[in-house]
Order: sequence, then structure tokens, then C-alpha cells
Amino acid sequence: MRVDEKARRTGSEVTLDMSPEEFRQWGHRTIDWLADYLASPESYRVLSQVHPGMVRDALPAAPPSDPEPMEAVFQDLDRIILPGITHWNHPDFYAYFSSTASGPGILGELLTAGFNVNAMLWKTSPAATELEEMVLDWLRQMIGLPEEFRGVVYDTASVSTFHALVAARGSVRDWDVREKGLSGPDAPRLRLYTSVQAHSSVEKAAIAMGLGRQGVSKIVVDDQYRMNPYALEAAIESDRAGGWTPFAVVATVGTTSTTSLDPVPAIADISARHGLWLHVDAAYAGAAAMLPERQDVRAGCDRADSYVVNPHKWMFTPVDFSALYCRRPEALKAAFSLVPAYLSTPEGDTVTNFMDYGIQLGRRFRALKLWMVIRYFGVEGLRARIREHIRLAGLFRSWVRDDPAFDLAAPTPFSTVCFRLKGTDADNRDLLGRINASGKAFLSHTELDGRYTLRFTVGNVRTTEEHVRRAWELIQSLA
Ligand code: PLP
Repeated sequence: MRVDEKARRTGSEVTLDMSPEEFRQWGHRTIDWLADYLASPESYRVLSQVHPGMVRDALPAAPPSDPEPMEAVFQDLDRIILPGITHWNHPDFYAYFSSTASGPGILGELLTAGFNVNAMLWKTSPAATELEEMVLDWLRQMIGLPEEFRGVVYDTASVSTFHALVAARGSVRDWDVREKGLSGPDAPRLRLYTSVQAHSSVEKAAIAMGLGRQGVSKIVVDDQYRMNPYALEAAIESDRAGGWTPFAVVATVGTTSTTSLDPVPAIADISARHGLWLHVDAAYAGAAAMLPERQDVRAGCDRADSYVVNPHKWMFTPVDFSALYCRRPEALKAAFSLVPAYLSTPEGDTVTNFMDYGIQLGRRFRALKLWMVIRYFGVEGLRARIREHIRLAGLFRSWVRDDPAFDLAAPTPFSTVCFRLKGTDADNRDLLGRINASGKAFLSHTELDGRYTLRFTVGNVRTTEEHVRRAWELIQSLA
């Protein structure tokens, strides 16, 4: 560190930030670093190979009391942090839903940090609120939800679903849950319905809402892992007869394990018949609703009360970004709005104050990165990429099907292939371990019908047919 720089950073009269010149220098260095990183992700092992505690042990236990040179920080980034990174931006990341950051999304995130606005009230940054409203309306049009749906951004689908279910709970008639809570002998025993294949976030929301795990009825699925609507209706009727108060149904479009689609039109009929709130979890597959040829992804969703889709899963937007749409946003507001004097503003109802629509007050300016992603790629560009991922997964599926050593384990409606090596669970676990230890590809697993199953998802904006072919050859060679 130059002497004058050190003096400036420790000098008694100076308690200011990095100088503009220094910021520019390290900003260029950071972008160069990232550009190199994104240009050659294949030079890294996809799944970090560090052992638990290795990163922590390499770091000093106490913070530095004196300023350190940025050069040293960058060296440690390469030396300590990088080995402990699992590379979600790597084209051979096929695990979970391989959410990936694109160039425009990363730049948007950088600008968000630079502005550092808090999008809690309209006036605390009008552009943040109005861009959020506008970009979510663009997304609404892209995925074909009706005009009356209004969006709000949260960090994750788990949090979006939680908010939707709290709004649903507030809509229960004959009991003012917001005022009275759910305790006491007269409180209703609320129950919601979802399939056994639903994401664990639904059950977590019920736990957080005070419904308990017993407040969730898990409905059986058919042989393609789709909720059985007859079983749903039977469960609602029998619960009602048994003293429960059914209040919501969560249907999934693109379940986590196999990406199956629940029969939303039939579930919407049942929800309407029984006066229940219908929430659709399309966290991953909602992106495919952009494709005009995939009307199946949209079917019935226009009849939902709420709908969640995560641009951070399959729309090349860096984590985090989850969009929740509500047909009656006033229900969400009624559930959450609580305005102390110090947060009241003169604009009143002429503007949206997003703090009214959730548990959190402070909110990041997330809309900027999605705005940049949509503008950079265009809707057609996004569609083309999602189509290509579905095509690549179809190709991978055909290779699995044609190899007698493997079995397909579920249909492939989108870009996720579930398959097994013929053999025991231990054989499959062992194969997955060897694939991931190779550092050349990263897959994850699930359990289907009690059996250990491998999952291969294509969702990375940098993945090509060549990558997928090489990954399959690797899997075959290790099997
Ligand atoms: N819903 C579905 C269908 C998912 O697959 C997932 C995660 O994979 C979630 C919800 C939770 O997503 P998040 O990590 O955004 O909470």
C-alpha cells in the first residue's frame, strides 16, 4: 500500500470512504477478474473439493485492526475463497435447479450495490418502486398471467410462498386472524393442501405461520408425480367434516424432484368449489411459460390467487430474485401493512410503498438486474435460451434411454432428467460421488418411490451441447 494511501485511510482527519480514484482502479480490477472468471469457468472444478472447516481455518480468527492493501484481499480471494466456491456459473453445473448469473444480471447487481437504495417506501427511491412495478408487469405479460395480477419481489420462492399463504390465511372468513392470532379454544384449525412432491418451503411456511406440520395435508400423486385431484377433493371434504378449516391449496408447476406439473385446471375447479385460496408454485418452470408452444405451463394459472416464479432459477438473473403475483394484492396488503408514524408519507395511496406487502421493511433494489437481463436478451432471446435447455435435456434423456446400463426414472417435461444406474441405491450414490469428485460435472439426487435417483438439470446460460455430451460420456465412463 502506498504511504499516502495508508495515511489517508488511517489519518485522524480522514474517516471517509475509498477515494474515487482507488474505487475506479479496484473496480476495473474486479470487473477484469470477473470477466476472466466467466471466460474460463472450465478451469475450475465445479463442486468445491474443500473439507469442512478448511476455508475458516485459512482465515485469521480476528479482524485486522489496521487497513490492509486491497492487493492482499484479492490474493486471498484467489488463494482461500476460490477453492471453497462451488461454481454455479460453471456450464457443467447440472445440480438442483442450476441457477446462473448472466453478464447483464451481474452488472445490474453491481449497480444495485452502488446505488444502495432501500426500496421500502416510494419516496425512499421512486425509481426502485416504479421500476419494480414495471418490470414485474413485463414479466407478467411474458408468462401470460392476467392483467389484474400485481407483482412484488422477495428474495426467494420460500419467502414468496410464505407471504402468499399468510394472505390466504387472512382471507379466512369468520375469524380475524390478524387481530386474534390462532390460539384459544375458538380458533379455527386451519389446514392447507399440497402434494407429496411439493417443495419443503410449503411445510416450512405452515410451521412459521403457527399451523404446525399437521396443518399441511399432503396429497398423493399419480405415476407421473402429479397431484391426484380426486384425492385432494376427498381430503378437503373429510377434513371439513372432521372440524378442520381448509383455507388454501398449493399446486406446483415444475416440482423440485422431477419437474412434474400438477393438474392446475382441475385443482382450480376444486379450490373454487370449496372457496380456497389457490397458490401456484412455478418457482422453476414458470420461466417456460414464456414459450408460446408451452401453453400447458400456463393452463389454469390464470385462475390462481397467487403465483410465484423465480427469475433467479431459470431467467439468468443472479440470486436472489423471486416474483410473487397476487390477483388481489389488497389481500397481501391487508395481511402485512402496519405503518408506524415514522414511516408515514404524504403520498398516501397514490403510490405503492412495498413495505406494505411483506414482513420486511428494508428491501433491495432487485428490479434493476431483471430489467437489464430482459432488455439485454429481449423476450425472444430468453425464450431461445430456455428452448435450447429443454432441447439439451431431451438429448441427454435420449442417451440415457438408449444405454442399457441406465433407466429413466420420470418424464422430462422441461430441462431436468431423473435417471438411475441399474443396480442398488448404493451403486447410484457411489456413481454420483465419483462424478462430483471428478470436478468435471456436478449433479444432485433425489428420492423417487423410495429409491435414490440422479438428477441432471440444464439451466446454465453457458451450457452447450458439447458440455452435455461430455458430461454424459463422463457419467458413462464412471458407471
Ligand atoms: N419451489 C420449488 C418448486 C423449488 O424447486 C424450490 C427450490 O428449488 C423452491 C420452491 C424454493 O426456492 P427458493 O430457494 O427460492 O426458496
